[in-house]
Amino acid sequence: MPGKDEVLYCEMCGTRIVGRPYRALVDGVEMVLCASCYMKLARSGRAVLIREPRRQKTLPRKPAPRPRRPSLELYDIVEDYDERIRRAREARGWTRAALAQKLRISETMLRKIETGKMKPPIDLARKIEKLLKIQILEPVEIEEEEEDYRREPGTLTLGDVVVVRKDED
Ligand SMILES: [Zn+2]
Repeated sequence: MPGKDEVLYCEMCGTRIVGRPYRALVDGVEMVLCASCYMKLARSGRAVLIREPRRQKTLPRKPAPRPRRPSLELYDIVEDYDERIRRAREARGWTRAALAQKLRISETMLRKIETGKMKPPIDLARKIEKLLKIQILEPVEIEEEEEDYRREPGTLTLGDVVVVRKDED
């Protein structure tokens, strides 16, 4: 490959360097040496190999911390969610099993929710609201503009909501 292989000559003995050239400090002077000169000088302690600075690896950039979105979609479950759900369900004449089925949750879970032992996750709470036509969620900060239950990319996940709420406690 012309141009690529640089022909180097040993600065000590003048022979053409075949293979790897040794860049070394010989008595404090930087020199390019053939292997045999380098070995000789290194053995006598006169040559110190110069370590070429390794090309700095480009480190994978850490993703910038996500900026806090200004419009937080934060909801909290109302205090008496258990009662509101139970009353709305009973008003419709639905059994717990029936409502649980509609919500695609277990009856046990619904019982926990209706007895106030478990706050429904936001997604479920929305389903409950829609199904029973009640309100059990109240906006904590900024009111949601659209009544779309599908989560859009970029909106907070339940995990985020929990973290944020923990911060506020
Ligand atoms: Zn040499």
